[in-house]
Amino acid sequence: MTSNIDKSIYADNAATTSLDPCAFEAMKPYFTGCYGNASQPYSFSGSARNALKDARRIIADCIGAKEEEIFFTSGGTESDNWAIKSVLASKDVQSGVLVSKIEHHAILNSADSLRRFGIHIGYLDVTNEGIVLPEVLLKHIDQGIKLVSVMLANNEIGTIEPIRELAEIAHKNGSVFHTDAVQAMGHIDINVNELGVDMLSASAHKFNGPKGVGFLYVRNGVPIDPFMNGGAQEHRMRAGTENVPAIVGMATALRINNEELVSFKSKMNELETLLIDRLHSYGLDFVRNGADSHLPGNISLSFRNSDGEMILHRMDLMGICISTGSACDSKNTQISHVIDAIGVAKDYARGTIRISLGKYNTQEHVEKIALALKKIIQRE
Ligand code: PLP
Repeated sequence: MTSNIDKSIYADNAATTSLDPCAFEAMKPYFTGCYGNASQPYSFSGSARNALKDARRIIADCIGAKEEEIFFTSGGTESDNWAIKSVLASKDVQSGVLVSKIEHHAILNSADSLRRFGIHIGYLDVTNEGIVLPEVLLKHIDQGIKLVSVMLANNEIGTIEPIRELAEIAHKNGSVFHTDAVQAMGHIDINVNELGVDMLSASAHKFNGPKGVGFLYVRNGVPIDPFMNGGAQEHRMRAGTENVPAIVGMATALRINNEELVSFKSKMNELETLLIDRLHSYGLDFVRNGADSHLPGNISLSFRNSDGEMILHRMDLMGICISTGSACDSKNTQISHVIDAIGVAKDYARGTIRISLGKYNTQEHVEKIALALKKIIQRE
C-alpha cells in the first residue's frame, strides 16, 4: 500500500514519528538473514544475540544507565503499566501511589487498576502551565506513599516537569520515583542520574524508531516483579522472544536523535517562532498552552470560540495532519483532562489543537499550516 503523506504535511509528531531511514536500514538484516532466536546458543543466532547486546548498551549509554538496568518492552504503555504495577511488589496493602493529574492514560488507568488491591491513588494538581510544583508533592506525600510517578514532559502541551526536585522529595520520603519519558526521549537530553529517577519509560515510535517497542529503565536494587512470566528473556523479568529488528531500530533511532539534539532544538525554536508570529500577524485570537520550558516543536494552541475537532478535520481536507488533544485519545471528543487540569478558559478550551513538529518539518510546512489555520478560523 502506498502512502499519500508525501503530498501532505505531517505535524503530529507527538502521536508518532516517521522511521529514520538509517534505523530502517539497521533493522533489515534481522528480518531476513539474521533471523535466529537471540536466546539460542548456536552460532547462527550470534548476530541476533550481539545486536541485542549492542542495542542495550547504546540505549544505556544514551541515558547514563547500566546495561542491566534496561528492559525491552512492547512500548510506552507496557513500560508504564509495569512501572506503576511494581508497587504490588512491596506486598504492602497500605500502599499509596501519587501521580500527576496530567499523566497519559497509560499511567492514569494503570494506577486506577490498583484500587482493587486496596491501594490508595492520589492526584497531584498542576499550575496553569502544567507544572507539578515540588510544594504540591510535599503536601501530599506521606509514609504510605510507595511510588510517585510524574511524566518528564507532557504529550499534549509539552511542559517539562521539575523531575529532579520531585524525585528528591520522593526519596526523602522513602518512595520510589518513576517518570514517563515517552514524549521526551530523543527530543531533549536525558540522564537518569541527573534526574535522579528510579524508573523511566520510553517508546521508540516517538523518537523516529519503529512502533511496538520501547524500554523500561529500572535502577539496580529497585524492587520490581517480572511483568510477563515465561522464558528467561530480559533477566527473567519480561519473558517472550525478543523483537530483535525493532530493538535494533530503536537503539539506532535514539543514538541518531541524541546526536542531533542541539540542532533539533534550534530548528524547532525557529519553526515555533515562525508559526506563532504568523498567527499573530493574521490577527487570530488564541492562547499558547504549556510552560516556557517545553518540548521542542510541541505547540498547543487554544483558539477563542472555535472547535478543535472542526479545525482538525478541515486541516485534514487541506492535507495537514495535526491533533486536537492527545492522539492516543482521539475518540474522546470532550475537553481533554490536561486542558481541564491547566484551567484553559471556557471560551478557548474547546478550540484546542496540538501541532507537533518533528525533524522532517520545514519552514514551508509551517507557512502552510499558519495559512490553513487563518482560512479555517476566519472562515474564508
Ligand atoms: N506515555 C505518553 C506520555 C505518551 O504520549 C504515550 C503515547 O502517546 C504513551 C505513554 C503510550 O506509548 P505507546 O504508544 O508506545 O504505547
